[in-house]
Amino acid sequence: MKYSKFFMPTLRDVPKDADTVSAKLMLRSGMIRKLAAGLYDWLPLGLRILKKVEGIVREEMNSIDGQEVWLPHVQPKELWEETGRWGVYGKELLRFKDRKNSEFCFAPTAEEVITDLVRRDVRSYRQLPLMVYQFGTKFRDEIRPRFGIMRAREFYMKDGYSFHADEKDAEVYYSKVLEAYSNIFRRCGLNFRPVEAESGAIGGSFSHEFMVMAETGEEEIVTCPSCNYAANLERAECLPVQSIAPQETQLALEEVSTPGTYTVDDVAKLLKEPKEKFIKTLFFKADEIPVVALVRGDTDLNLPKLARVLGAKTIFKMSEEEYARFAGCDVGFAGPQGLKEKARQKDPKFKLVADHLIKSVVNGISGANLKDSHSKNLNGPRDFEPDLFADLRNAIRGDFCPRCGAKGQKSVLNFSRGIEVGHTFKLGTKYSASMKAEYLDEAGKSRPFVMGCYGIGVSRVVAAAIEQNHDDNGMMWRKELAPFQVVLIPVKLDDAKTLEWSKSIYNDLTRAGIEVLLDDREERAGVKFKDADLIGIPVKITLGEKGLSQNQAEIKTRNSAQAEFIPLDSIVSEIQSKLKQYNQ
Ligand code: ATP
Ligand code: MG
Repeated sequence: MKYSKFFMPTLRDVPKDADTVSAKLMLRSGMIRKLAAGLYDWLPLGLRILKKVEGIVREEMNSIDGQEVWLPHVQPKELWEETGRWGVYGKELLRFKDRKNSEFCFAPTAEEVITDLVRRDVRSYRQLPLMVYQFGTKFRDEIRPRFGIMRAREFYMKDGYSFHADEKDAEVYYSKVLEAYSNIFRRCGLNFRPVEAESGAIGGSFSHEFMVMAETGEEEIVTCPSCNYAANLERAECLPVQSIAPQETQLALEEVSTPGTYTVDDVAKLLKEPKEKFIKTLFFKADEIPVVALVRGDTDLNLPKLARVLGAKTIFKMSEEEYARFAGCDVGFAGPQGLKEKARQKDPKFKLVADHLIKSVVNGISGANLKDSHSKNLNGPRDFEPDLFADLRNAIRGDFCPRCGAKGQKSVLNFSRGIEVGHTFKLGTKYSASMKAEYLDEAGKSRPFVMGCYGIGVSRVVAAAIEQNHDDNGMMWRKELAPFQVVLIPVKLDDAKTLEWSKSIYNDLTRAGIEVLLDDREERAGVKFKDADLIGIPVKITLGEKGLSQNQAEIKTRNSAQAEFIPLDSIVSEIQSKLKQYNQ
């Protein structure tokens, strides 16, 4: 490819709204351009890299018997109604009508569509297992699109779905997918970790996220330094604490005035008390049942855990009016004292649940169930008695590993950040049961398919690779993802010898299957070097006067400061061996 003809508009300046290294570098190098919030054009340079990732993913999916399909991005509402997701997916789902007034959505994922295809065309256990996957655009109307293409609204995903005769087969296959995913991210040169994850809106029985380790990642991950436990913060389990013997004497309940102050941070400052002393009193409706959850002031409630503990299908925060009705005070001023008794008069099904750590609070502080007041010296069970204690919070610094900690070891969890590049779910029969997708088993009995689904944010992988592999001068692609493996820079374009050699080296390398970018622009060498570093091509060949006079070319790899001169007649084999060693 000749640079002069290549549509790669590089920028000297960093675009103002680029908020991460990858977004800056992708925009500066002309890989992408922003069309509107969360919508990006992919230019030839970016697309070359995206296609490299796609190629690796395709090879690994095929190696576990995946078969590629292509499903429409526009999906009919009726299918989404069969699983009930039309109602629960919320505003991320882009919905619209066609000319006949029929309703559709733009695919954020494709469980319904694939389950519909398979229920129509797969009848017998003999056709199982079946794994199908596709590459395509997904649209999710993200509330805050950001970080360039990392959290876009329209993005490029590989989504795969597997169908099995039973749970066991689905589980065996699931572990094959985990292995294939590890191969993919390893081949992309990423430092990553699979972690246990919540299954969220997709649902299912268990799930893993593949995290690329990066300070700029949106996800918080906990890992154990002693065993292989790793989970995202949402999923991480917390060990129950035994009832901690109070060191302090229990004092008498007392009311203090806290005008206009209700967040734990603000009240803690006002009363000069640590957040560990506070009891957060949080109001929910779980499958229409009113629930109050108590968590310690220095911890955050984990909603999926609360839903699981209650066995609830739906769970929402109570509206301000409902809160006021049950607590008898404004939002922010409720406390657990006397609450259960009062709330049960309004609804006998009312539940009061508390996180294990509440047992460690002595002479605690909470709202006084009265505007502008807080109560001090709250002690359970004297002042409140939850219906049950459970793990309801996110892990915090200092927590022990739930796996080896449960066996008595005291390994403190590490906290780090990551970018989620892939997500695998064992779905079970969640979709096949609601959509009546069934096959006939050996005995001729109808059974729902057992399913798995597996996503990779192909476009996000590109950004994650940049986050992990760059320096002050630009990107540093490993050879498997590089848009070109070699950039060839002839310094003097008006010199016959230079032109002759650049043509023959270009042709020879191309014939050897190496992708070369020939920088034939009328630019100073310095500009060309800067652009080559920005784009991050592994090997740079410079044809300068000095080298050519001795029949040599200068070679430099993107990841070393050292340049070397090599004879022109052995250039192809030299470049081949350089590339072989690159990123090994
Ligand atoms: P996130 O928590 O980041 O929103 P998710 O759990 O909603 O991701 P999945 O439904 O599992 O994502 O989608 C599969 C993969 O698609 C994710 O692992 C991620 O790599 C990618 N992905 C999801 N949302 C986006 C987005 N808005 N922009 C780019 N890639 C995305
Ligand atoms: Mg999401």
